[in-house]
Amino acid sequence: MTPAPGAILLCLMAAAAETPADFILLSAKIWTGEKSRPGAEALASRGGRIVALGDNGEIEKLRGPRTIVLDGRGRRAVPGFIDSHTHMTMGGLNLLALDLRHTKDEADFTRRLGEFAKTRPAGRWLTDGAWDHQQWTPPRLPTKALLDPATGDRPACLSRQDGHMMVCNSLALKLAGITRETPDPEGGVIVRDSSGEPTGVLKDAAMNGIGAVRPARTLEELTEALRAAVRHAAERGVTSVQDLPGDPRDLDAWEKLRAAGELTVRVTYRPSLSAWESARDRRAGMKSDEWLRIGGVKGYADGSLGSGTALFFEPYADDPKTSGVFAAEAIPLSKMEERVAGADGAGLQVVLHAIGDRANAEILDLFERVAKRNGPKDRRWRIEHAQHLRAADIPRFAKAGVIASMQPYHAIDDGRWAEKRIGRERCKGTYAFRSLLDAGAVLVFGSDWDVAPLAPIAGLDAAVTRRTTDGRNPGGWFPEQRITVEEALRAYTSAAAWAAFEEKEKGTLAPGKLADLVLLSADPLSVRSEAIGKIDVEATVVGGRVVFSRR
Ligand SMILES: [Zn+2]
Repeated sequence: MTPAPGAILLCLMAAAAETPADFILLSAKIWTGEKSRPGAEALASRGGRIVALGDNGEIEKLRGPRTIVLDGRGRRAVPGFIDSHTHMTMGGLNLLALDLRHTKDEADFTRRLGEFAKTRPAGRWLTDGAWDHQQWTPPRLPTKALLDPATGDRPACLSRQDGHMMVCNSLALKLAGITRETPDPEGGVIVRDSSGEPTGVLKDAAMNGIGAVRPARTLEELTEALRAAVRHAAERGVTSVQDLPGDPRDLDAWEKLRAAGELTVRVTYRPSLSAWESARDRRAGMKSDEWLRIGGVKGYADGSLGSGTALFFEPYADDPKTSGVFAAEAIPLSKMEERVAGADGAGLQVVLHAIGDRANAEILDLFERVAKRNGPKDRRWRIEHAQHLRAADIPRFAKAGVIASMQPYHAIDDGRWAEKRIGRERCKGTYAFRSLLDAGAVLVFGSDWDVAPLAPIAGLDAAVTRRTTDGRNPGGWFPEQRITVEEALRAYTSAAAWAAFEEKEKGTLAPGKLADLVLLSADPLSVRSEAIGKIDVEATVVGGRVVFSRR
């Protein structure tokens, strides 16, 4: 006898209900980010996706012999943090780099360099170091004689912390063909001893000789850097990054890690706008999945406040000769507009870096022109940083549907000196989180690692307190721009997912979504705001796998 179709369906449903979960979280205080079910005690996932939320009793029923169980011990769990702005290869390279910043003296310098060199493969260049001889007594410049015994057969060119000079070993000088006969180049100095022999120190333009022979970073080096970066992300509760160019071969390295099954962070990568055609072709030819995909392209409208290249309407307060400059990519602006229109036509989401108030206004204009030209569609254009805004431009974000992608840590860092650069009045529209939200804009957060720490908790603290890192603004720097913990959490989760067209996959905790979540040592939604910065990540779960645990 054939059973009725309904009976089959019931049988299948019963079977499905009994399939054990791969992962369950019990006894937690879950903030889901979902309006329909804002909280839960427990959660279960299967195949990397959430299958149920409920109380311990309900979720326990899905426990099988092989289910991984994470005991929340009553702690707060939130959707995994999405960092909307990272440069992961650069961050990873810095994590792995030699650090000579705090050496005591010459002997200490050689010892630390030697220890580091031993961990590097033969023949690999040793670079960076950020040494500072002013910390030594006596403050004498290092020489190749300090490097040679420590470096073996590895060429070394170690930069001083200010980047204006480097010290090389004998092998690096030889490879660059720098001898006692080499004249000082224009704008540079080859430091020599009393006999005329180069000591190894090269200043400014003299460093170009090394740059010409030092090989580009290998895929192996980049992959190694990303491995370290991915580990770092897990420790910080970051389960997705929206990554931006650091090295021309970023994507090759990401693809290598994915192929090796080593990704524990999901990556949405945006290559450079100038190469939007190759980004379009690469996207068409490469596998896109929940671990790695091309999410659009990124361009630059101007420079930075720190270097005085952010583009303003009015001159800098401390340097009235300049109001900043357009980035090379935006000269002329019409060329950038063609690229934006082309990328938009090809279905690539466009995100543009703009810091100064004029750069932001120009990009809002440009976006409006291209939208008119290419016709209406769901674009989710973004301005990265949106750092200094004229009051009149703030409502334009919501009106033009442009997302403000901001980095709250920059606010408490730049807040120490921004008023000196551009004056108090213009700082009123600086990192204007509150005004943007009140005007209806979508606000998303990120770190800009490695310019700032890869640390969403530090970002939450910065957005909620706006206390500058120098301790000088205990009540908040322009405190009227503070936002609530819940608003800041959304900027790191659901809004960030939406800003990458990924809201169906992630950003909140609901059945069908990826099981990406973070367990915290304390509840940011209920602790005093001063305590937010001290919260630790207890565990990070990506696709139902515990990828970091503090215990
Ligand atoms: Zn950046």
